[in-house]
Amino acid sequence: MFQRRFEGFSQQQQSVIAAACDGMQQRAARSLDQGAPIAAWFGAADRNQVFLKLRMMQNVIQDGSRTVTFVNRTGKKIGVTHTDVYTKHLNPVGQETPLQGSGIVAYAFPVDRRYGDPGPHSTVSHVGSGMRIYLNDVFFTLDPVLQAATIYHEMTHKVLATNDHCYDPVACRMLAARNSAQALDNADNFAHYIANC
Ligand SMILES: [Zn+2]
Repeated sequence: MFQRRFEGFSQQQQSVIAAACDGMQQRAARSLDQGAPIAAWFGAADRNQVFLKLRMMQNVIQDGSRTVTFVNRTGKKIGVTHTDVYTKHLNPVGQETPLQGSGIVAYAFPVDRRYGDPGPHSTVSHVGSGMRIYLNDVFFTLDPVLQAATIYHEMTHKVLATNDHCYDPVACRMLAARNSAQALDNADNFAHYIANC
């Protein structure tokens, strides 16, 4: 698995995050099983396309030369609004949103999407040597499956350049049924898929 670095967490919190990474790794392995519930979360999307993305995630998760840094943002502010994290609209200085009470669990910053959809040619080069995942205290109130799914969610933003079209299982299943291409671009569809594996 990738190396894990921690900034600002207690030993106990580090153990929780490490356990969530282990859980994610096991689920990511199962996500490639032929019997995995692809249709529920990605609708009629081409299975080869889905598996291509799942394998890209699996490759990063398994890569011991990569580092993922987890950053404790509890009590801090975010300089972009929740939905704007992926549209790169920075708020003016002084208009940061406090994370406390925001309901935000975790976030990551957008990858460069100039090269379009990830695929055999763009692969994961835009991730660079490491990535940072920012966690709010809400993360530690989630059950272990959702903690694993949350980390996977954030990693899809980095590895697959996913967006946030909608959240929560009901909305994600509806999106899969209605627009499988968009489901395949939605971080939470991947998160709920992995929670289901
Ligand atoms: Zn997201």
